[in-house]
Parts: sequence; structure tokens; C-alpha cells
Amino acid sequence: MPVEIDARIKEVIQRTYNVKSFRLEISDWLDFKAGQFLQAMLQGDPKLKRYLSISSSPTEKCYIEFTKKLTQSDFSKALDNLKAGDKVNIKYPFGKFILDESAPKVAFLSGGIGITPVRSICKYAVDKNTGVDIALVYSNRSIRDVVFKDDFSAMCKSYPFLRVAHVLCEAEQGFKCTVGQINSGVVKNEIPDYQERKFYLCGPPQMVEAMRKILAEELGLNSEKIVTENFQGY
Ligand SMILES: Cc1cc2nc3c(=O)[nH]c(=O)nc-3n(C[C@H](O)[C@H](O)[C@H](O)COP(=O)(O)OP(=O)(O)OC[C@H]3O[C@@H](n4cnc5c(N)ncnc54)[C@H](O)[C@@H]3O)c2cc1C
Repeated sequence: MPVEIDARIKEVIQRTYNVKSFRLEISDWLDFKAGQFLQAMLQGDPKLKRYLSISSSPTEKCYIEFTKKLTQSDFSKALDNLKAGDKVNIKYPFGKFILDESAPKVAFLSGGIGITPVRSICKYAVDKNTGVDIALVYSNRSIRDVVFKDDFSAMCKSYPFLRVAHVLCEAEQGFKCTVGQINSGVVKNEIPDYQERKFYLCGPPQMVEAMRKILAEELGLNSEKIVTENFQGY
């Protein structure tokens, strides 16, 4: 059952030019599964309410973190002004975008801010050393938009079963990536054993639908092997 609590901000982390993470101190720890989301309400105002994936892992016990792309909305502006000690009302956990621990091999296709639950799941797998084989294809407009870049590099170093392939619309000198967008060719190239994997897709609804079509219609994957999370609102 989801629980509602008033939490205090412990730390705010600037991730990219328009993405910030907010770490909340949780006095009464409520367990959640990596990949789940919460509802955050600011200033006690029901108009300032959004669903946000939890970007921390349940193994990171000192806090719960969410990570928001800051837009021009009233919610984003109010969030952007928050600092350590400020209050946020949260309700959690929600959602079924969670790792199927019976699947030995999984793949994530993610775009932009859609990386937040993926970061949670990967961190969980790394910290627990689950042995699950993870292939992530992460697409962004440019290198400036890549969230958790160093975090993923560190995870790849400490967990040999995690591979991350970047896809950027704009090439970046010295940065290994495919230039363009995720398509069936990119999936085949970056994940040659794609038929053996369960796929998790996360991002704006249009992107998720495009990815689902590529997997189901072009690559012939069964719908039971595809799990999606739509970030409604983008
Ligand atoms: C399960 C889930 C997890 C998400 N996780 C993240 C995350 O980790 N990081 C992140 O940045 N964003 C996440 N989002 C998207 C987030 O909830 C906001 O919709 C988005 O950030 C845009 O809000 P805004 O205030 O910036 O812009 P706004 O301009 O206020 O929002 C854009 C429009 O979308 C509408 N809208 C907002 N939420 C919804 C909704 N749930 N369903 C339908 N319409 C809606 C608003 O009313 C508005 O018209 C998630 C969404 C969902 C459903």
C-alpha cells in the first residue's frame, strides 16, 4: 500500500543544465522496488503534484532520490527553488516497471530523462551483485543531455554484466556513441542477442511507442518480453 509522508530535502544535485536530483531524508523507511515511482506534492498545493520515478536504489538506504527535467511549468519552477531542509510531500511506492529477477538477461532502451528508473534498477543489480546481464541503449539529443553519465561509467567498472551504449543526435568528439536515433539496426548492432532478452522501455510516450513498434513489428519480439513505462506529460 502506498504511504504518504512529509519528507525534508537532504541534498539537491545538478545533473545536467536542466536536470536536478532531489534527495529526501526518510525517517520511517518504507521499502520500494527498484524502478518504482512516487508522487511529489509541493507547498501542499494539489496543483503542484507530479509522478516521478525514484532514481535511487533501495540499497541506498540513507535517502530517496527523484530526478526531474526542469521545464517552464509552475511545478518545475517551485521545485527548482527548493533547497536542503525544505519540505516535500511524497506518496509511494507505485508502479510495475521492476526487474524480473527470473530473467537472466535484460535490455533497457531509454531516452533522455527516461533513464531515472533504469538508474535505480541498474544500481540495485550492481549493489546486490545479482549477476543479471544488462544491456542499456541510452539515447539523447547531445552529450549535454546525458543524465548519470559518470554514475553509469562507475557502475560498468564495478559490475562486468552491465554494458551501456550511447546514441546521440549530434556527434561528440572523443565520446563513443552511435549518431542518430534508436532503430532496429542499432538494436541488432548493440544487442546482438536481443532475442534472448526481456526489454524495458522508458521515456516520453511517443518514444516508448516507437521503440515498442521496432521490437514487436520489426524485430518480432513477443509482447510478453516488453515492459514499458510512459512518462506522461512530455
Ligand atoms: C510513472 C511516471 C514517472 C515519471 N518519472 C519522471 C521522472 O523521473 N523525471 C521527470 O522529469 N519526469 C517524470 N515523469 C513526468 C512528470 O510526471 C511530468 O509529467 C513531466 O515532468 C512534465 O511536467 P512539468 O511540470 O515539467 O511540465 P507541465 O508543462 O506542467 O506538464 C506537461 C503537461 O502534462 C500534463 N501532465 C502532467 N502529468 C501528467 C500525467 N501523469 N498524465 C497526463 N498528463 C500529465 C500536465 O497537466 C501538463 O499539461 C513521470 C511521469 C510518470 C507518469
